[in-house]
Amino acid sequence: MNTSQKTRPKVIIIGAGLAGLSTAFQLFQLSRGLFDIEILEARNRVGGRVETLRKPFSYKLFAEAGAFWISDKHALTLYYCRKFGLNNIKEILKENQELQYISQDFQFKCPAVVREDGQPLPLGSRTKKPSPWPNLRMDESQVGLYAFLSRYLCSYRALLDAGDPNWPYPQISIDVEKLDKMNFLEFLKNTGASDGAIDLMRPWFAWWDNLEKLSALSILRDGAVTRQLCDEGHPRWYTLSDGMSQLPEAFQHQLKNIVKITFNAPVVKITQNGNAVTVTHGNAEKQLSGDYLVCAIPFSTLRYIENLPFSPNKLQTIHQLRYSTVARVYLQCRKRVWKKGKFNGVVFTDIRKNSQEGIGSCGMNLLDMTLAQNSENGILQAYMVGDLGREVTAMKEVDRIRFFANKIKPFYPGIEKEVDWGHCTSKCWDNDEWARGAYHMFEPGQMMTLIPHITNTEGHVFFAGDHTSGRPGWMEGALQSGHRVAKEILKMHFQKAN
Ligand SMILES: Cc1cc2nc3c(=O)[nH]c(=O)nc-3n(C[C@H](O)[C@H](O)[C@H](O)COP(=O)(O)OP(=O)(O)OC[C@H]3O[C@@H](n4cnc5c(N)ncnc54)[C@H](O)[C@@H]3O)c2cc1C
Repeated sequence: MNTSQKTRPKVIIIGAGLAGLSTAFQLFQLSRGLFDIEILEARNRVGGRVETLRKPFSYKLFAEAGAFWISDKHALTLYYCRKFGLNNIKEILKENQELQYISQDFQFKCPAVVREDGQPLPLGSRTKKPSPWPNLRMDESQVGLYAFLSRYLCSYRALLDAGDPNWPYPQISIDVEKLDKMNFLEFLKNTGASDGAIDLMRPWFAWWDNLEKLSALSILRDGAVTRQLCDEGHPRWYTLSDGMSQLPEAFQHQLKNIVKITFNAPVVKITQNGNAVTVTHGNAEKQLSGDYLVCAIPFSTLRYIENLPFSPNKLQTIHQLRYSTVARVYLQCRKRVWKKGKFNGVVFTDIRKNSQEGIGSCGMNLLDMTLAQNSENGILQAYMVGDLGREVTAMKEVDRIRFFANKIKPFYPGIEKEVDWGHCTSKCWDNDEWARGAYHMFEPGQMMTLIPHITNTEGHVFFAGDHTSGRPGWMEGALQSGHRVAKEILKMHFQKAN
């Protein structure tokens, strides 16, 4: 190390996910190399919850364990993909035409996204045939899912730019506290949706947990609901056709000679003493001290670090923020049977373990993980959250695979003959030691009480991660948080210097 390096102020970042990587990258860019930056990462790779699984698949197929979708609204994600020369950004689900809907209780299918004024009319019809979907009111049976989303959710445009990190603004005209205290199922009922309409809309929200476990406000805040669906027409969706891990790997490449990344270095203890911050990491319990520390890890793992030197409000928030259960199961198939049959591989379902489960519980959503890959063979994935996700997480892997294959047999006749059983797998995020859940969610009443304490700095410790952004559960949020923290560090550093 030369003399100028020795005297550089030191920034330690915990976590080499997109938040940690973008903090390092942005801090280096903005400060032109003023800081000595080191990242400590528990795993042996970068990317965290962005992870492309290449094993145990064959035929060069791969699937995503975490992030897969990039929205056209996620400007920073697209910016970095382009900046790093990732020229395999592929649009998928054009106009959402491919989306379908299956019910396990009776054989029924419809395109899942239908505009109030548009074609086709999936429930009821222009010929006024009775709707095949149960428990819908007359006024609902003539229109489709998209119309329900618009009718029951879009009055909350008044939330304004709910993705802004400074949200909620004082000028919001509706009672956000009341909405936060209400669970999402109650909200839908209060807004006038019938049980049948809720049933139909439910798979649309099968990304977090059972509907009664979620703060209504948190779901309304999600950009896909409050803005993309209602005001701006169909969102456009992209993925990286060679795998999403390319994005964090591109960051790693850019940081190669400017930032040290130490792998297999789980941080187990943090101490703050005046202006110095010290972390203990790795099995040999090495110590590293610096001027500033960035916690770019989810609160679900931060809460396991010893002696967190933070205020009572911060500690309470770190312990209370809940993370969604997501179980994903992947079936590798010699032929994409779903391409030829009645149902394609982009399907919302209400398939649960037991069809008697309550109206708030979520079903299994299906996705051809190989949509952007050119091959005869493919990987069909089940995405399961809430009670179903927890039940599947508790199973052995072999049982998860059997469960999935059995449930979809009625819709894809003969699929079991095409499955490469030795090349199927699953990913349950609750069991991942360095994530302990998929992405955070707010229970009723938590959003307004916890948000004020998620992002704020504690002494010389800063907080990054998608959970600290207005776009939680998205790479976009993780990247945005890195930009915010880089600015915060610079501000504190120059304030101290003056
Ligand atoms: C199932 C699933 C589906 C998703 N789908 C999408 C999608 O389609 N589109 C999208 O944009 N986003 C999606 N996301 C969200 C996206 O993956 C995350 O928002 C984003 O990757 C979070 O980045 P992060 O850096 O904040 O956290 P992470 O990626 O979790 O990074 C944190 C890093 O810290 C490390 N770490 C944890 N604890 C310690 C410790 N004690 N010491 C040292 N290191 C530690 C971890 O190993 C990890 O590498 C999905 C996520 C999941 C789980």
